[in-house]
Amino acid sequence: MRQALYFEEIGNQEVQCHLCPHNCTLGLNKRGNCRVRKNIDGKLISENFGLCSSIQFDPIEKKPLYHFYPGSHILSIGSIGCNLNCNFCQNCEISQTSVDQYLTGHYYEPEDVVSKAREYPENLGIAFTYNEPTVYFEYMIEIARQSKDLGMKNVMVSNGFINQDPLHEVLPYIDGFNIDLKAFTDSFYKNITNGNLEPVKETLRAISKAGKHLEITNLLIPSQNDELDEFTGMVAWIRDELGSDTVLHLSRYFPAYKSNIQKTSLGLLFNFCETARQYLSYVYLGNVTGSESQNTICSGCGKIVISRYGYFIQKNGIDPNGNCSHCNNKIVIS
Ligand code: SF4
Ligand code: SF4
Repeated sequence: MRQALYFEEIGNQEVQCHLCPHNCTLGLNKRGNCRVRKNIDGKLISENFGLCSSIQFDPIEKKPLYHFYPGSHILSIGSIGCNLNCNFCQNCEISQTSVDQYLTGHYYEPEDVVSKAREYPENLGIAFTYNEPTVYFEYMIEIARQSKDLGMKNVMVSNGFINQDPLHEVLPYIDGFNIDLKAFTDSFYKNITNGNLEPVKETLRAISKAGKHLEITNLLIPSQNDELDEFTGMVAWIRDELGSDTVLHLSRYFPAYKSNIQKTSLGLLFNFCETARQYLSYVYLGNVTGSESQNTICSGCGKIVISRYGYFIQKNGIDPNGNCSHCNNKIVIS
């Protein structure tokens, strides 16, 4: 446990949290929507500080990040809690729980996490992932500062639902982001995730403006966000606001948590992938094993420059300068 950042005392022993756009007001002994920040004795406490639900070395492609040090490994950690409540959550065991209910985690001090990251000489750095890192903000930023001082790279895999002040505090310490853009209507966010669209768009703009590596994931859910006009509006917005080189991972949905809608058909996924490619240079399919849509194609000559089969990566088509070895076109890779 640790006293939280970004809260104010508002009288009568109540506090207001300003970490994310919910801006929860919490009476004594109450928790916020994320279930991991609690008003104890009139102060806001981050209850999940140091609590790891998972800590392991993963391929960077698993985040997913396809244009950020492809083929590398990164120490990936997660805690518990989330500030959204998506009814299709695939990580609900860790995202929709509290420290009272979750009894199988282990505690690591920030310096223990950083030491572990250094155990493996080829390790790229530390990825904050699995549950929503915003809700373990204090833990994340302390680890990220230490690892950055040692020259490691940091990655944040997030739903993007964070207020601008904390985002700007953490931005200097994070090198690569994968942000979920779950749909392009506020009604989807309100009804299915308990969030709002606009703060996520603001997060994407801020990351892009800061010049950080940014990839986006969109989970395509039949009957929920599969209107072609809405999707086209979304990819056009990404192109216009963030740039046509922004990497998009279009992911296949499977039933999970409270959602029993049938899985996304491959036909729908491929159709949307083709549409996205009319706007963006790098579009990949997620949750589809063995698909050619996981290869990186040169936008100049159309040849494969990085081939992927699962987490087996070959970068045969890129020269040491980061250009396509067939036509010399620049491939946008960090
Ligand atoms: S981080 Fe948690 S407590 Fe704070 S505003 Fe968001 S949901 Fe509420
Ligand atoms: S944002 Fe991610 S972790 Fe949180 S509830 Fe939604 S799907 Fe689950």
